[in-house]
Amino acid sequence: NHAVEFQQVSRVFDTVHAVDRVDLTVAEGEFFSMLGPSGSGKTTCLRLIAGFEQASAGCIRIHGRDAAGVPPYERDVNTVFQDYALFPHMSVLDNVAYGLMVRGVARAVRHRQAEHMLAMVKLADFGGRRPAALSGGQRQRVALARALINQPRVLLLDEPLGALDLKLREAMQTELKALQRQLGITFVYVTHDQGEALSMSDRVAVFKQGRIEQLSSPRELYNRPRTAFVADFVGGANVIDASLAQSLIGRAQAFSVRPEQMDFVSEGDGGIQLTGTLVDVQYHGAVSRYQVALADGRQLAVSRPNLLDATQVAPEPGQAVTVGWPAHAM
Ligand code: ADP
Ligand code: MG
Repeated sequence: NHAVEFQQVSRVFDTVHAVDRVDLTVAEGEFFSMLGPSGSGKTTCLRLIAGFEQASAGCIRIHGRDAAGVPPYERDVNTVFQDYALFPHMSVLDNVAYGLMVRGVARAVRHRQAEHMLAMVKLADFGGRRPAALSGGQRQRVALARALINQPRVLLLDEPLGALDLKLREAMQTELKALQRQLGITFVYVTHDQGEALSMSDRVAVFKQGRIEQLSSPRELYNRPRTAFVADFVGGANVIDASLAQSLIGRAQAFSVRPEQMDFVSEGDGGIQLTGTLVDVQYHGAVSRYQVALADGRQLAVSRPNLLDATQVAPEPGQAVTVGWPAHAM
């Protein structure tokens, strides 16, 4: 049985097709991500799995069982929301124990389990505090512990790291992934951050306007994007359209080239080449990103590592440049 299965699932609000004939399966124990821009239908998909929304059409199965008419609390599914939704008037320990309390688990038992969960998210000494006395990252961990205490078979996470700063977010990505492996729970993870989706997931579904553009492993997504949208959204690829491809390689078939596969070259260096003007340079620490305008107005992005090497000469904005890439990079 699949943990989650969608067959031609749609959710329509008035005239908006928030989710539009989606097919997908999530395997048991899988770290599955839904990636896409704001408004592409990710949250609605999660709410459909959780049972907070009903499908307008199609069939949803959870662990093989048709979910139509099954209320949220009978689905063996829990959700971590972006805003954490902690109870401000309760202690951290009672927040975590809440799911056991509503099931009537005795106070001593639920507190012991809540302490165990808090230790697992590295907040062993914080049970007595109120949520207001925690940092954003700590609140995030409390929300996670609270969602895990009922040992759901599927955990739904809706942009759970969205409110954290970059360094904390990266640390939490590693921890979330480790926790998921350790517990063996199926994670369905919603994000608009492609780096997050690529680094944590077994498979990623890329959403655009309520539909799945591509569903594959992170590597496949990055190296073999099947549409221009996926190529651009997952890593900002340079999409070479059919007419430019015709003049470059003699075949009118669009393709994409990653910015890190491109470099500044000299004419006659071999490979595929285009000339243009450097219009912008963005420094990102490990790499710099160069924006090159071609004569016809098209733009290319070139990403180069910033080496501590005095012989590496970087071009300046305004300069004429030749951009090249090896044929195997297409
Ligand atoms: P995402 O999570 O990818 O940003 P959502 O699933 O929240 O996208 O929304 C998808 C689309 O459905 C958006 O156009 C949004 O405005 C619309 N939508 C979502 N929920 C509702 C609702 N309750 N009523 C009306 N429109 C909604
Ligand atoms: Mg959303």
